[in-house]
Amino acid sequence: MAIAHQHQVNLTKSQNNLSQLVHRQRAWVEIDLAALAHNVRTLKNFLNPQTKLMAVVKADAYGHGAVTVAKTALANGADCLAIATLAEGVELRKKGITAPILILGAINEVEDIKAVAVWQLEPTICNVEQAMAFHKTLQTIGTPLLVHLKLDTGMSRLGTNWQDANSFVQIVQSLSQLKIASIYSHFSTADESDRTMMNLQHQRFKNALTQLNNAGFIPPQVHLANSAATLCDRSSHYDMVRVGLALYGLYPAPHLHNSLHLKPVLQVKAKIAQVKTIPAGEGVSYGRRFITQKDTKVAVVGIGYADGIPRNLSNRLQAIVSGELVSQIGSITMDQLMLNVDNIPNLQPGDIVTFIGHQDNLTISAEDWANKLGTISWEILCGFKHRLPRINIA
Ligand SMILES: *Cc1c(COP(=O)(O)O)cnc(C)c1O
Repeated sequence: MAIAHQHQVNLTKSQNNLSQLVHRQRAWVEIDLAALAHNVRTLKNFLNPQTKLMAVVKADAYGHGAVTVAKTALANGADCLAIATLAEGVELRKKGITAPILILGAINEVEDIKAVAVWQLEPTICNVEQAMAFHKTLQTIGTPLLVHLKLDTGMSRLGTNWQDANSFVQIVQSLSQLKIASIYSHFSTADESDRTMMNLQHQRFKNALTQLNNAGFIPPQVHLANSAATLCDRSSHYDMVRVGLALYGLYPAPHLHNSLHLKPVLQVKAKIAQVKTIPAGEGVSYGRRFITQKDTKVAVVGIGYADGIPRNLSNRLQAIVSGELVSQIGSITMDQLMLNVDNIPNLQPGDIVTFIGHQDNLTISAEDWANKLGTISWEILCGFKHRLPRINIA
């Protein structure tokens, strides 16, 4: 099979011969499309019927593969998509996706504005200057565009300050090439259990909406919630929620665990390359950061930091082998790492190791890695490099 040269492989249940598919891989990411479909349907059912679900598929769908994720999400109840960059939007359009696509990031260059129009993407407009630039460029090509106006309510990232909502909207309304599709804002602390700042941002957002209403403007759509707000505060749902992390089956924070039953979509696996016994007192890997206390059976596995296993997890990472939890030992290298498999009988090259995922009743999650590293699950998911092929399991 030519899989070793392919970037992405699709596997359906009818041809469910995983062993054949991974036949020539040393390491790969497995994407469980049934789990993704389940998460999308679960989220959609949780929303009021009139609330839309926007599937956030930026950064190659948090490392899961944007095109496959977008198609699966749309087929299971997502209403539209969001990405961060122009290139991410163009990729989806080129693959035949016709659903509305919001660009969350800012677009400023004339050529980029033209491309947004050509590909019928829906940009975020952050301020009056950008609105003017869009209007001017769109006039030259004669296509009006649906745009989403961003208000800053306390994230201090993109957007016009919420106090200035009225003048911002009035100016945009006067620009014939721009059709306002929505007014939106973004929370900075929706994943914290202390809701003080979140409530303040929400209050500012309501205040801005009231200003607009008083001036006679009723936005066609209003949206505010990310995954965390979607799970913890129904009053933030409005016309649409923008869900990223939860689609992928992870919870934004421990206190939100099991608010809905979501299933992790991504697994990371690799094969054992060699099994051998190291004598007592021997150093393992660069820098001899692990010294064997006794004769120790070690498995060398073909995955490393160039694939997205953070080197900072050296000597702290765990993996599942033959239904047992084992410890990674010594420095993680660019393409390989070592496991202590002293208690695991009958291992041989080609046996599969799970680094993120589940086997029997053992689970290792992206969140476990994030906790060890002092970071967040989002960053872990985005860290799996395209050196690893994605294998989609339907
Ligand atoms: C990334 C992003 C989201 C999705 O966030 P999650 O926490 O992954 O659900 C929503 N809105 C904006 C503006 C974003 O940048």
